[in-house]
Amino acid sequence: MQAREKAVVDAVHKELFVDGKWRPSSGGKGLPVEDPATGEVLAEVADASVEDGFAALEAAVAAQRDWAATAPRERGEILRRAHQLLLDRADDLALLMTLEMGKPVAEAKGEITYAAEFFRWFAEEAVRIDGGYATAPNGQGRFLIMKQPVGPCLLITPWNFPMAMGTRKIGPAVAAGCTMVIKPAEQTPLSMLALADILAEAGLPAGVLNVITTSDPGAVMEPLIRDGRIRKISFTGSTPVGKILLEQAADKVLRTSMELGGNAPFVVFDDADLDAAVDGAMLAKTRNMGEACTAANRFYVQRGVAEEFGRRLTARMAALKVGRGTEEGVQIGPLIDSDAIAKVTELMADATANGARVLTGGSTVDGAGHFYPPTVLTDVPRDARMASEEIFGPVAPISVFDTEDEAVEAANDTEFGLVSYVFTTNVNRALRVSERLEAGMIGLNTGLVSNPAAPFGGVKQSGLGREGGRVGIEEFLEVKYVAVGL
Ligand code: NAP
Repeated sequence: MQAREKAVVDAVHKELFVDGKWRPSSGGKGLPVEDPATGEVLAEVADASVEDGFAALEAAVAAQRDWAATAPRERGEILRRAHQLLLDRADDLALLMTLEMGKPVAEAKGEITYAAEFFRWFAEEAVRIDGGYATAPNGQGRFLIMKQPVGPCLLITPWNFPMAMGTRKIGPAVAAGCTMVIKPAEQTPLSMLALADILAEAGLPAGVLNVITTSDPGAVMEPLIRDGRIRKISFTGSTPVGKILLEQAADKVLRTSMELGGNAPFVVFDDADLDAAVDGAMLAKTRNMGEACTAANRFYVQRGVAEEFGRRLTARMAALKVGRGTEEGVQIGPLIDSDAIAKVTELMADATANGARVLTGGSTVDGAGHFYPPTVLTDVPRDARMASEEIFGPVAPISVFDTEDEAVEAANDTEFGLVSYVFTTNVNRALRVSERLEAGMIGLNTGLVSNPAAPFGGVKQSGLGREGGRVGIEEFLEVKYVAVGL
């Protein structure tokens, strides 16, 4: 590690954040955090036990009543100050994220800005929690409708966007008046620990946010979920883990928000603006090295432009610079671990064995770190495994289609429904196809849908609920109706 890298890692607390204090894990165990570009251990963070999980839960429960009674403006101001602190420290936080997660520093800085924006958005939403007053239809009573915080929440986040997936949950929870226990992914805990410090500095009272890092998430989280005092789980991660959590949440009938896996189709029609389509494809495929739930996973291109699209995409992908995310000009960092490389390799072997042709890339890179080169495949059969499973790597599989019906049918032929991308300049087709696609979000002539001011989320097995936008705060509010006799 270089001196500046060491300094940003050293600056982060490595302990558990419980009731406003940093404390070691009760068992004294440590959890190593590695740089995926080198395999070097960057730091050890506390490895929480079940007992530590309960300490965090107790703190969240104890803080709930006072926190719910805090003025909305005060909750908003804390978020606004935290937004500014994130921006002020964006350079160091970006480097920290690159070290633990691998994405190029410029992208990591983009994520810090995006993450901070959730705090600004929900600072503004905190003071707009509304209610209602109405006359009953028969005129003989009144309805009073109020919104109140759900209560203590359990927030669980993945490694691919270590900061933004946290602020997307913490922002609305703070704005709504909920306390929380948050568990970041074990591969990327440092960003969340740094965020806890920032929130404390911004004035968040003790006990409102408690951070637990653990190597045994199942054992530490399940007792908290089944305890009955947590009132909501907000989870971002894989569909299989989401299903486990939904089952556990059923025990005490908890509110749930589930941001799960994706398998985004990217559909390019003959009438598309091809420059825009290739730009959109690069964004949707290479952002985060393809390790995004919104990553374009399958490219369906209409026959008239398929060859040209493939040629241009191949040229752009082949020109990308691969390397450690801290190096100048690098556009593709390492994948998160050796399992990720093994999964991409397996999906590639399956596709090529079934007739897919490699236009660029396609084989692992020798040496330290988990690198996979930008890859484009064509003639990928509809039943290839990568058409139904998340690739989570910089691999773009292209299939050719002839008719609009065929494209829509292929796009919807998945158990997932997070996002679909469509490129066409025909406005009728754009709206027709957007309506027919089974997805929570559509990227229409754009390769980027994420925006804190818009409702993010999926249908089918991509999840339940929405994060961001006007509805984001509703996920952390209960509606109470008072029947008023007059
Ligand atoms: P993951 O394996 O499901 O892990 C996500 C989080 O859940 C991690 O903090 C993990 O802890 C924790 N976890 C694992 N098993 C658990 C259990 N039994 N009980 C409680 N918590 C448990 O997913 P991932 O590999 O980190 O993330 C990639 C997945 O997330 C992809 O499928 C991607 O599409 C999805 N994702 C979705 C969105 C969205 O908004 N829809 C956004 C980003 C990512 P450990 O780290 O300790 O395993």
